[in-house]
This record gives sequence, C-alpha cells and structure tokens, in this order.
Amino acid sequence: MRRKLVAGNWKMHGALARNQALLSVVAGRMAQMPGVDCAVCVPFPYLAQTQHLLRDSAVQWGAQDVHQQAEGAYTGEVAASMLCDFGCRYVLVGHSERRSLYGESSQLVAEKFAAAQKAGLLPILCIGETLSQRESGATEVVVAEQLDAVIKLLGARSLRDAVLAYEPVWAIGTGKTASPAQAQAVHAFIRQRVAGLDADVAQGLRILYGGSVKAANAAELFAVPDIDGGLIGGASLVADEFLAICNAGQN
Ligand code: PEP
Repeated sequence: MRRKLVAGNWKMHGALARNQALLSVVAGRMAQMPGVDCAVCVPFPYLAQTQHLLRDSAVQWGAQDVHQQAEGAYTGEVAASMLCDFGCRYVLVGHSERRSLYGESSQLVAEKFAAAQKAGLLPILCIGETLSQRESGATEVVVAEQLDAVIKLLGARSLRDAVLAYEPVWAIGTGKTASPAQAQAVHAFIRQRVAGLDADVAQGLRILYGGSVKAANAAELFAVPDIDGGLIGGASLVADEFLAICNAGQN
C-alpha cells in the first residue's frame, strides 16, 4: 500500500512570526500521526527558519520552484544544490501558476525536474488542465503532454524518485474541488499511462490531488484508490485545517 503524503504549498505567503506559530503547532501534532507523510513547501527566504523549526520533527519541507541549471549567471534564481543546503526533501516543479504566469513550458519543467533529481531532491511534478481544456474534452491530452515531457527526457524510471500532483487548474484557489470520481478518473489515467511503460514504477508512484482540498472534503478524496494524498494551498496556512487534512490521510 502506498503511504499517503500531504504537502502544503504556502505560495507567496508567510512572515517570521506567523510561520513560527504555524510550524510549531504542525510539528507538535504530526508527532502523533505516524500513518501519513507531511511536508511544507515554503518561500525561499523561509527555508532556514523552516529547517531550524522542523529539523527534529516528522514534518519534511521543500521549495516551490528551482532553476534548471546547477549554477551560473541567472540573477534572482535558486539552484537545487542551494535547496539541499537547507535540508529540503521536496521541490514543486510545474505548478500551474508557474506555467501560466511565468510561461513555463513542459520542456522547461522537465529540465527543472531533472535538476532537482540530480541534486537528490524529490520533485513534485504538478500537472493539470484548465477549465476550457476540460470542457473541450482535452484533459487527458493535456495531462499526458505534461507527463510525457519528463518521461521523454528522463525515462519512466525517473518517476520512481518523484511524486506527481494532479491539480485541475479550475480547482486551484477557487473553492471548486474535483469530485472524487472526476479526480479518480484522471489519477487512474495517469497511473495506467506510466504502467504501460513500467508497471512497478506505476504501482509505487504517489499521485497527489490538489485543488481546494480542505478538512471537509479531504477524507472522501483520499478514499479513492488512486489518490495518494494531497497538495494543499490555502488550507495549509491554517494549522487546524492542515492537520485535519493530514489526519484524513492516515493509513
Ligand atoms: C495549490 O496551490 O497547489 C493549491 C492546490 O491551492 P488550493 O489548495 O488553495 O486550491
């Protein structure tokens, strides 16, 4: 059985005092939840604080983006090795906000995925369709293209050391959640596509669902067979909400 992972994506939110209060509560309560993995993906400037507060806890941490090159003249960018220096285990790549607001292509996202893995990080590859793509029946084509860019660059076995997050763009930050059946259909499609290349990798692959997950809907989403946890935006900023979602993910 795949162990569930609940990962928070703080996006561009946070402040030293608020982070301290949130992380202390989360770290304390996660000690009582051995049946689920938990992580927070925080803004770069808070990685040192997060490492300090979570170092001896059951909660892991990561970043929200990484540059595709190992180092160089890329003003304002952050390399994977720098994330390792601050104890990151995970890094998001290809979040829909990066794809839509910063024009990140699937090819670039695949290169970021490669850079993260090369440094020893576990990339969380975010994929998902917009509302118009869903309404025109293109969900599977879109998700396949985003996934295949990584498989083409690195092979299906690269997914052994990674996590996928299916996040329908129309459900992110909107309060509209995919129904468990809608999410399951896409998760099953993703797993079958990977299984067509490598059955073992597909069987072990954790596919998170993201898009307006909250305490009130987490349990029904996590109950379907191919959802292996959640990528949580807004609700990850509220300790009780986030912890209730983690609790729903316990095996
Ligand atoms: C996200 O940012 O990945 C996300 C799923 O956000 P929210 O939970 O707020 O919809």
